[in-house]
Amino acid sequence: CGIVGYVGGQQAAPLLLEGLSRLEHRGYDSAGVAVLAGAGIKVAKRAGRVRDLGESVPKRFSGKLGIGHTRWATHGPANDVNAHPHSDAKGDVAVVHNGIIDNAATLRKRLADDGVDLVSDTDTEVLAHLIARSGADTLEGKVADALSVIDGTYGIAVMHADFPDRLVVARNGSPLIIGVGEKEMHVASDLAALVRYTTTVAHLDDGELATLTATGFTTYRADLTATDKAAAPIDVDP
Ligand code: GLU
Repeated sequence: CGIVGYVGGQQAAPLLLEGLSRLEHRGYDSAGVAVLAGAGIKVAKRAGRVRDLGESVPKRFSGKLGIGHTRWATHGPANDVNAHPHSDAKGDVAVVHNGIIDNAATLRKRLADDGVDLVSDTDTEVLAHLIARSGADTLEGKVADALSVIDGTYGIAVMHADFPDRLVVARNGSPLIIGVGEKEMHVASDLAALVRYTTTVAHLDDGELATLTATGFTTYRADLTATDKAAAPIDVDP
């Protein structure tokens, strides 16, 4: 339902929780965040309110890159396990997703036949396993690989322990907006979660991906050719 992401010089968890609280008006049943710390990716997620999630995020949940999600369940009930972010078995990947993967049942079966242990009922979880299992060298390549077998709608944000400087995001039928800050980058599914931090934004188009680092962003298609999108100030009504 709602996505936020951050990479920069500040602690990510409080910013992500704040962003999620600005998406609450959209409605949701569960919430979660993932933060990349030195030792790897830490995830906190649960059914219920963002406020409750905030209370269950440990004080030492430190890291300057992360993603967050409010879920409106489509595949599987609203419970702690089905809340996003979703990960692969090793916990190298964390992904949040808005939308519906139409061929999730086929992909779940294919992964299970390959020995993958699927822990949730969601369509989204297949993305985490597909990204983790891709043989591509770059996170951009891994995400593009995973998306190439997905049918359906998505806005996604992905982080990977082996690529600690970046978020990769992608859009097909579910909005994503990049917000450019001072030595930091934000992403969200709704302007409401960005305007507190920046009014310089770039809207992704369907079929477009982007990489965000602390110093900037690049946009490209699924074949990894650049689309060179620039950010622009939001028109604020007088
Ligand atoms: N289809 C996903 C799920 O059921 C995402 C739902 C959403 O957009 O929040 O978990």
